[in-house]
Amino acid sequence: MSAEPKALWWQNLTARYIQEHAKKDDIAILPIGAIEQHGPHCPCGDDDFNAIGMCELISKKTGVMLLPCPMYGSHPYHHWYMPGNIPLSYETHIGLITDIVRGAAVSGFNKFIIFSAHGQVSSTIVAVHKLGLEGYFTLSLHWYDFLRDDREVLDTWMWHADEAETSVALYLFPELVDMSKAEKGGGEPLVDRRFIIAPGMRPQPGMMYHFEGTFARPEYKELTNGIIGDATKATREKGEKIVTRVVDYVAELIENIRQRYPAGVKPPVK
Ligand SMILES: [Zn+2]
Repeated sequence: MSAEPKALWWQNLTARYIQEHAKKDDIAILPIGAIEQHGPHCPCGDDDFNAIGMCELISKKTGVMLLPCPMYGSHPYHHWYMPGNIPLSYETHIGLITDIVRGAAVSGFNKFIIFSAHGQVSSTIVAVHKLGLEGYFTLSLHWYDFLRDDREVLDTWMWHADEAETSVALYLFPELVDMSKAEKGGGEPLVDRRFIIAPGMRPQPGMMYHFEGTFARPEYKELTNGIIGDATKATREKGEKIVTRVVDYVAELIENIRQRYPAGVKPPVK
């Protein structure tokens, strides 16, 4: 009988184990989410739990090291002042990510993947470029953007506390989800939707990414129930499909990095 592989969480391991591991595999993943309201049916740590749950499965599948997930994240401007949300300022979050990567590199890690389950491109992209100037190889992905328009697993573009996000939660931590309170919700953007690339949507000519403009009124004025999309359509089965596909894509990415740059080889960023 073989034991199920365990996720490799940095905080559960000794310094010596971590250093020995880095000699064989120097890729580390940093899961990040946020503290944010997720409607009447999901907890405020939803994005953290989604990031942690997916990264655990990625680590079990690939043996990759996981850095501890900071529970707080940064938020686009229109999330601020919404009850339930505790945003870090952009400067704080960029500093948090860059400090974590610099610190983990001391133990021998040379390749980093920031795995986000929350819309915080406003700080992750800046962190990646600051780290690039210092010579760190860092990739950053938001799981729903990474799926693009994979219609086999996503019926609708993911927005917030909706069908997709709630389905993932139902698969990863059903004990914290109350589907009897799931509702439909939404708001109207300040420009026509046809110009906006939704999370997970394939870009088309004449469109801007959802994080490229001040496209929305503040959520505390705009949203009635904290949901954008239709949470009532969420199921555990849809969540399993989404999670499995994301885990497979990231595992492929890890394998590709391992082949191109074996342990000890620094991608020539600088
Ligand atoms: Zn979320």
